[in-house]
Amino acid sequence: MTDVTSTSAPADRADEAGPVCVLCHHLPAAPATLHQVNGVLVYLRWNREQGPFCRDCGTTLFRDATARSLSRGSWHLLSPVLVPLVLARNLAARRAVTALADPRPHPVLAAPNHRPLVPGRPVMRRPTSWLAPLLLAVLVSLAPLVAGPGVRYDRVGGCVRKSTPLGMYDAIRFVSCADVHDARIAAVVTSWTECRGFDEYVAEGGHFYCLTTEPDPTPAQPD
Ligand SMILES: [Zn+2]
Repeated sequence: MTDVTSTSAPADRADEAGPVCVLCHHLPAAPATLHQVNGVLVYLRWNREQGPFCRDCGTTLFRDATARSLSRGSWHLLSPVLVPLVLARNLAARRAVTALADPRPHPVLAAPNHRPLVPGRPVMRRPTSWLAPLLLAVLVSLAPLVAGPGVRYDRVGGCVRKSTPLGMYDAIRFVSCADVHDARIAAVVTSWTECRGFDEYVAEGGHFYCLTTEPDPTPAQPD
């Protein structure tokens, strides 16, 4: 990347009527807007820097805003949409400023101490640009392993909770026997006739669940 100020380009009087870089007052400059997204879960902050910018200032802002969006915007719940949107907009802005000639000071507006910004390292040569997305991808891929296959209670050892106050089993729930429940699953069979030796049964999803009613854990109070 060619950076810093170059004074080798010949002055082009036609440029002086065009836009001037808002940061360093150098010519030529192009209208461009650089976006930056920061976010964690639902918290979102969207910043933008609006030009015109000269080539070096625009390139600097592009690299900084894009790298920060990759590292700080990847943690938002909508980052799969937001970050690519920022990248697309910033790349369009970069195309506008990189097409410009070397910046030279405006003969009237630029003070002697005005200098274009110095572009830092390219976006993907900054570790933070790819570490955050990479770490996020690893965490997402490991999440099912950490969470496990999930515990199911629709089997022997699980329990049943009546879902209606009337005690109807028309929409039962399978729950952990450590939670409030009404009956324990003693067997899972394919025909209700196989549940004859149990207290009751319930049909769900093409299976019959033979149930043993749990004794009331509340001891009877003496009269
Ligand atoms: Zn500039």
